[in-house]
Amino acid sequence: MIVLGEVFFQELINYAKLHSPKECCGYFFGFRDTSNNQNIVKQIFKMNNIHENPKDFFMFSPQEQLDALIKCKKENLEIIGIFHSHPHSKAYPSNEDMKYIYDHRHSYTIISLLEKIPQVKSFRIKETEICEETIKI
Ligand SMILES: [Zn+2]
Repeated sequence: MIVLGEVFFQELINYAKLHSPKECCGYFFGFRDTSNNQNIVKQIFKMNNIHENPKDFFMFSPQEQLDALIKCKKENLEIIGIFHSHPHSKAYPSNEDMKYIYDHRHSYTIISLLEKIPQVKSFRIKETEICEETIKI
């Protein structure tokens, strides 16, 4: 489960809409509660999408990834997940997304703007196994 809260949930949707037709992306900072497998979001760290084809893919810059790590450490938080948007496809990891997923403890959250009402879904991914997780709003 990812504990996101109403404010962050809405913020993700607004941010995705703002960037459409490009994908938006970023990290979740927070805590990992291993006793019940919850990722608790405390901050959204928005990143620039530097991919050359940002309408269909996203990529973080190495410098911003470093900035994120430093900020996260300073605030005594951990990186607990990654979010990005799918402006014109469903809220499910693409084959390309799967190539860059490296931590099965992370929440991978996707905001889809395909339907009139935006869909937000979150996943835990271990190698090729994709498990949808509950989002607590
Ligand atoms: Zn994607």
